[in-house]
Amino acid sequence: MAKYQSINPYNNTEFASYKNPTASQIDDALNLTHMLYKKWRHEDPATRAEILGEIAHSLEENKDELAKLMTLEMGKLLKEAEEEVDICIEICNYYAKNGSDFLKKQPLETNLGNAYYIKQATGVILACEPWNFPLYQVIRVFAPNFIVGNPIILKHAHNVPGSAALIEKIIKRSKAPEGSLINLYLSYDQLADVIKDPRIQGVALTGSERGGISVAEEAGKNLKKSTMELGGNDAFIILDDADPTILRNVLQDARTYNAGQVCTSSKRIIVTKSRYDEVLKMLKDVFSNLKPGDPLEKTTTLAPLNSVKAKEKLQKQVDEAIDGGAQVYYQFPEINSNGAFFSPIILTDIGKDNPVFNQELFGPVAEVFCVEDENEAIKLANNSSYGLGSSVISKDIEHAQDVAAQIETGMTVINGRWITAGELPFGGVKRSGYGRELSELGMMAFVNEHLVIDVTKNNR
Ligand code: NAP
Repeated sequence: MAKYQSINPYNNTEFASYKNPTASQIDDALNLTHMLYKKWRHEDPATRAEILGEIAHSLEENKDELAKLMTLEMGKLLKEAEEEVDICIEICNYYAKNGSDFLKKQPLETNLGNAYYIKQATGVILACEPWNFPLYQVIRVFAPNFIVGNPIILKHAHNVPGSAALIEKIIKRSKAPEGSLINLYLSYDQLADVIKDPRIQGVALTGSERGGISVAEEAGKNLKKSTMELGGNDAFIILDDADPTILRNVLQDARTYNAGQVCTSSKRIIVTKSRYDEVLKMLKDVFSNLKPGDPLEKTTTLAPLNSVKAKEKLQKQVDEAIDGGAQVYYQFPEINSNGAFFSPIILTDIGKDNPVFNQELFGPVAEVFCVEDENEAIKLANNSSYGLGSSVISKDIEHAQDVAAQIETGMTVINGRWITAGELPFGGVKRSGYGRELSELGMMAFVNEHLVIDVTKNNR
């Protein structure tokens, strides 16, 4: 694995680096979080709900500092970093308001006695998170588990270590008890040891298939429950009757938000042939009007990728796609910079035997597929090992709902690109992983549904 370093992808300059923790620092962190779990078991979640409200407030107060640091470390547009903080404030407020209710005991219908289950914390959870949304990915796990009473050990991505430290600090500043979230710059070997430790009861990972496989394997070997939120190759299906205004509006950022580095970004744009030329023109219009520059500047609309390494990986994939028969419909002119800029590109004619057909391209690359009709569109959408999100663009909402039900993904948005909010479950099927984050569903990921049944009357 790479070192924990802050490198500004706009100019490829390192501005901070961090060391792995010592064995005793790791042990202290495990002890502190475990003791907090034991303490929280005796406390009402409503107390923590109040503190989570304070954390939301503290995120608001520290928004500028946090947004700027995220931009400096992974290159996203400052405006998008600010939006990310806003989403996280909303998620914290959502769980602060509803979390305690979700944990109320659940009565059960049975003739065997008076039965119900209580929803209890299970212990310390290890959160292993990616860089693409440095705050949001952490809050998705932290906020619900904070209400449940599961403290978090955070292993963040190697390229956003400053953001990880700042998130920990903001949570601490909000009167959250010591140990609510502890950030550790763990090596992969240290991570494996932490997973093994009996004080850890679950592992939540968001990241690539490669990372997911390694961490899920460690979790499995040690019988630790896990959730895996992995990559996607989302289909964006445009039907014959798509509303042109909606289509134009949605395509504005469906493939370029966060420089295309969103797990649910509309990576495969699947268009029925009657709308193919129109869609290509719309996309070219969007791509050619982007303005590359410093992501801290308000006028910039095209940010660099998160690292030069990511740019090189994407370039290799695009080269292989073209060698494999893909056509370049449009590419943005070369961007003269020593940063991690990738010139957005629109590819067509990607056959099923093309090396990238079943790969995730993590950057501003639109793969556009022309299909005869809706049936072929659905078949193509499902012809993927991934199953994270999808979109259907159509004027006929009922029909779009039918189409949505036929797509093998965890989420489908009608007449929009990907979306997220505290109340909406997030997650996928197939090789996009398992489990859900956010909403009531996500909150139950590491809850012990503890059955209590009173059978006194049967045994008198
Ligand atoms: P990644 O390489 O898998 O990294 C994710 C996290 O796992 C990082 O903290 C990373 O640490 C760690 N990790 C990776 N390999 C590991 C290993 N062998 N052992 C232990 N830890 C390991 O993912 P990424 O490429 O940075 O992130 C982008 C991917 O995340 C994309 O595929 C994207 O689609 C997916 N994603 C999914 C969702 C979702 O909700 N489904 C959301 C966002 C992103 P290091 O940084 O130290 O390597």
